[in-house]
Amino acid sequence: MNVSEVAAGLKALIGDSRVSIDASDLEAHARDWSPAALLGQRTGSPPALPIAVVRPTSTEEVSKVLGWASQNSVPVVAYGAGSDVVRGIEPRGCVVIDMGEMWQIRELDQKSRVVIAEAGVTGPQLAEALEAQGFTLGHEPQSHDISTVGGWVATKACGQLSSRYGGIEDLIVGIEAVLADGRVVESKVVPRRSAGPDVASLMIGSEGTLGIITAVALQISLLPGPRSDLCLRFEHMTDGVKAARSIAQEGLQPTMLRLYDEQDAMLFLRNHPAEPQGPLMVMSFHGAHCAERTEQARRLAGGKEGNDGLVEHWWKHRNDAVVEFRKVMEGEGLLGPHGIVDTIEVSASWTRLRNVYHSIKDALTPHADLVGCHLSHVYPSGACLYFTMGAVASSDEDARQRLETWWSEAMTNCLREGGSISHHHGIGRTKATWLPEELGGWFAVLRSVKQVLDPNNILNPGALGL
Ligand SMILES: Cc1cc2nc3c(=O)[nH]c(=O)nc-3n(C[C@H](O)[C@H](O)[C@H](O)COP(=O)(O)OP(=O)(O)OC[C@H]3O[C@@H](n4cnc5c(N)ncnc54)[C@H](O)[C@@H]3O)c2cc1C
Repeated sequence: MNVSEVAAGLKALIGDSRVSIDASDLEAHARDWSPAALLGQRTGSPPALPIAVVRPTSTEEVSKVLGWASQNSVPVVAYGAGSDVVRGIEPRGCVVIDMGEMWQIRELDQKSRVVIAEAGVTGPQLAEALEAQGFTLGHEPQSHDISTVGGWVATKACGQLSSRYGGIEDLIVGIEAVLADGRVVESKVVPRRSAGPDVASLMIGSEGTLGIITAVALQISLLPGPRSDLCLRFEHMTDGVKAARSIAQEGLQPTMLRLYDEQDAMLFLRNHPAEPQGPLMVMSFHGAHCAERTEQARRLAGGKEGNDGLVEHWWKHRNDAVVEFRKVMEGEGLLGPHGIVDTIEVSASWTRLRNVYHSIKDALTPHADLVGCHLSHVYPSGACLYFTMGAVASSDEDARQRLETWWSEAMTNCLREGGSISHHHGIGRTKATWLPEELGGWFAVLRSVKQVLDPNNILNPGALGL
């Protein structure tokens, strides 16, 4: 099918105003926020242009588009807000389904504390609707303001306050989605059920390869009460890790907890030159007994007293990286015109965490000017390790090569030491090479599911390596 046939077919389905083949619209949907895509933009490489962008306003319209795409074997890529950092969106030759016009809050059930939001609802739209009634979702990724409900579910995202509220998967109580052939599937909104395998959860982390999520029912909480902060200093990272483990296993439920290693602490403290260097832990507790839990954490953790004012600094600047990252990738940040920065988030059990940390850090250090890591998202069984790499590259080609090296070194070392290659950013195309090893025998199961649900491979082909 050529472009005009595709556009005519789609317009006949959902109306002229919902279909665009405008060059600037195609360009605006060609990339996500992955460093590879942003580097490509900086160097003027041709973008992965889609052939059309459609903006459905209802589940019924998504269903019509997918039914038509299936019949005509036209590939489609769901687009939330495009903040994916692992090349989840590379829609060359595809129709992009921009979910931005599906922004309705369908229901806010205050009694059950459940909100039903359409997939295109953005972080700020949801927060505004909930806060007006005294509620919060508690899911606050750094990219909160540039991402959507559907994107969170599709990437199995995790917010910075996950130690209290959980990852997005812990908040989901129902999913409505459209399958490749246009069938609409909905799940009942109930707190739990034992009714066969939870097949709806196949959508969680599916990155648009198994269906298009159109609405999600999410558990909400009352806005948190008072807050109590704690900052601790450790001579060695090992002591800080032990402290984080004790706090997680004691069930103290900090709202957030972060342990920065020496290099990551330098990044965190860059506007605080008087602060001593070295590993640093910040954490906050909320609610009626927050002060007591803070004291309990202090006793359990050991370490030296730090500056609790730094915790407020964290809250205030917790999303600044969005702007800073973009600036570096546009060649206008601290790392100069060829600067490159990326982040790699892995997870490991407490038993394996030390080896995962050291092997990745040692492997990356020769290839970057700075490799920092913080431990966050703590669980009784383990934690997430979040590496940030930065380099003043000599050319954009040097920057590109460093990206490649960073990923292959980090992924191979992580797998060798028994960690998982992704805690919350997903797989996209950047990590697809390593997904079969990550999943072992389950990768064949995933392929079989894909074959059944999307036999013509029209849904985000290439993502997850499918
Ligand atoms: C600076 C920065 C900080 C970030 N911080 C965090 C963080 O703290 N925690 C975290 O988890 N992530 C973080 N991310 C990553 C990113 O924001 C998340 O992956 C987010 O969930 C993507 O949401 P989105 O709406 O932008 O989705 P998109 O980028 O539009 O899409 C992401 C993937 O999901 C698919 N998709 C989107 N919508 C749907 C749908 N309705 N149905 C089916 N598939 C769909 C897309 O095809 C794509 O494969 C960060 C990104 C940036 C740039």
